[in-house]
Amino acid sequence: MVKLNDNFQKLPGGYLFPEIGRRVRAFQNPPMPVIRLGIGDVTQPLAPAVVEAMKKACEEMGHKETFRGYCEETCGAYDFIRFAIRDSYLERGVNIADDEIFVSDGAKSDCGNIGDIFSADNIVAVCDPVYPVYVDTNAMAGRAGDFENGKWSRLVYLPCTAENGFFPELPEKTPDMIYICSPNNPTGAAATRDQLKTWVDYANKNGSVILFDSAYEAYITEDDKPHSIFEIPGAETCAIEFRSFSKTAGFTGVRCAYTVIPKALKRGGVSLNAMWNRRQGTKFNGVSYVVQRAAEATFSAEGKRQIAETIAYYHNNARVIREGLSAAGLTVYGGVNAPYIWFRTPEGFGSWEFFDKLLYEACVVTTPGAGFGPSGEGYIRLTAFGDAEATLEAVERIKNIL
Ligand code: PLP
Repeated sequence: MVKLNDNFQKLPGGYLFPEIGRRVRAFQNPPMPVIRLGIGDVTQPLAPAVVEAMKKACEEMGHKETFRGYCEETCGAYDFIRFAIRDSYLERGVNIADDEIFVSDGAKSDCGNIGDIFSADNIVAVCDPVYPVYVDTNAMAGRAGDFENGKWSRLVYLPCTAENGFFPELPEKTPDMIYICSPNNPTGAAATRDQLKTWVDYANKNGSVILFDSAYEAYITEDDKPHSIFEIPGAETCAIEFRSFSKTAGFTGVRCAYTVIPKALKRGGVSLNAMWNRRQGTKFNGVSYVVQRAAEATFSAEGKRQIAETIAYYHNNARVIREGLSAAGLTVYGGVNAPYIWFRTPEGFGSWEFFDKLLYEACVVTTPGAGFGPSGEGYIRLTAFGDAEATLEAVERIKNIL
């Protein structure tokens, strides 16, 4: 009989969001409309420049002369999008060659699929709390060991708490693969240059690889926070960077992202860029022409201006949440360089208990920090991606019940 991948049986189940959904559904006849500030999806429409570019590309696809099929260009993406991405890095003084850029349908897939080029024996380090995709995909690949008492036996957990400014310290046990997400989901913290340099030097010294997720880089407002790990000297020999148009330009339903693997990144003389190129060439047939044109439009002058307006809208929500909850006496983090606000639950409340209180008394859906890892216990995540009016109303309701 066929043998299955037993690692799937070890997964504790899609616990967090299904459980939130179950509790919300079980809440019958809420006294006021429920406001959802839990799941991190965007709410504002695509920029008009993006919509125009998609319409034009669709029209091209409808004519024999301009129709496009499989993309034969470098790394399965058209020059126009790879060059636009390359130039956007250059604007920040970062030199990336266009054949170091791999365009895909999402940072989620890339963060998960990247495991294909690494051995199952590697020791993996993850921040705690963390975006669950890094943990679950490594568990599926057999790198995480067994799930016991809320932790995976082979993972190195890097606690990120208020005490260390939500940035991990170097671990005792040296990991081979190190996931760093900055600006961070869920804590909303963004790493400084010095903090990232510590990890870049460490990875180069130990031959580790940093898997750097900067899906939220567009939300950085402070100058000492790098947008890319490649702003740190030496990162080109130890890091892979994941980026996405999802939160930058509202592409959560359009789907487009990219991963940068420098050609200087080698282990045992083998190029990780070449391996990923081989992997993608075999298992992925690229992003549609229409979507690549949509992504290109985000780099036009008009596109940039329109996108900046939407990001400012979400930043304003973040400010409303931060200021409102602080004024109500809560200890609040994040929301300055990220669309997430992370706050401590009041004395005596665990994450889930306070989640329930906010749901039942304020009719506001949040995300309990414990769902992102053991060090998330005692925290709640709120997203700034909601509608502005609803966000304001949610903050007022929370203030009222405290
Ligand atoms: N990385 C982080 C840290 C995220 O929070 C998310 C989405 O919530 C993603 C990646 C997924 O991005 P994409 O929509 O490009 O798959």
